[in-house]
Amino acid sequence: MTDSVHDLSTPIADADAILIATGAGVSTETGIPDFRGPQGVWNTQRPVMYQDFLANEEDRITYWHQKVLAASTIEVAKPGAVHQACVVLEDAGKLEAIVTQNIDGLHTIAGSKNVVEVHGTGREATCLTCHMRSPVVPHLEAFTASQVPPRCECGGLLKPATISFGQQLDSMTMYKAMRAADRCDLVIAMGTTLSVHPAAQIPLQAAGRGIAYVIINQGETDHDGSPLVTLRIEAPVGPTFSQAVTQALAT
Ligand SMILES: [Zn+2]
Repeated sequence: MTDSVHDLSTPIADADAILIATGAGVSTETGIPDFRGPQGVWNTQRPVMYQDFLANEEDRITYWHQKVLAASTIEVAKPGAVHQACVVLEDAGKLEAIVTQNIDGLHTIAGSKNVVEVHGTGREATCLTCHMRSPVVPHLEAFTASQVPPRCECGGLLKPATISFGQQLDSMTMYKAMRAADRCDLVIAMGTTLSVHPAAQIPLQAAGRGIAYVIINQGETDHDGSPLVTLRIEAPVGPTFSQAVTQALAT
């Protein structure tokens, strides 16, 4: 057992209500490209702003094209070590919530129940008029066949249930994230540079209550050097976190 695993297993063993904050780094381990990384959409495709999606059919076609391309990667991805270890923590009754910036739905697919997806999920589509949710895959298939952006039965525009550039976060989702931050007794941020707001505020809000704040990430984060961080681990998130969970539950 490495020092990092040991250092992390102790606060996990002591905690009863852990808040896990995850970002792209827990999913890149499963083969999903980081949207900020070299293969990510920020570098390979022009993002469609929410306002343009609402206003122009042409932009909606561009947007759905991008979603069809991204879906081929997301659909084959399987939950990784972090996703599995989060399920183990929840089953052990030690998890307050998972607050994730990821839209791949892998925490839910792994079997976690209390998942707060602050940037939404790409697994579902939502009607922008009546807000009805439905699985996204049939809409992707219909768009591929027709090249016509799908619409709801009510006539409203359908869009994958993710937060687009220029689109406001869902207030009820953010309320759930903040409530978890107010209730937890340990916060662990993993695989995130903590640079996307307001998602990055959630662990700080929790840590501001005086509880332990652990960051595991490969590469710098915006919270490095903050006096609120009690343990900073520079290591691959999957093996480190899953070994620490196993160790914590064995004690
Ligand atoms: Zn509708």
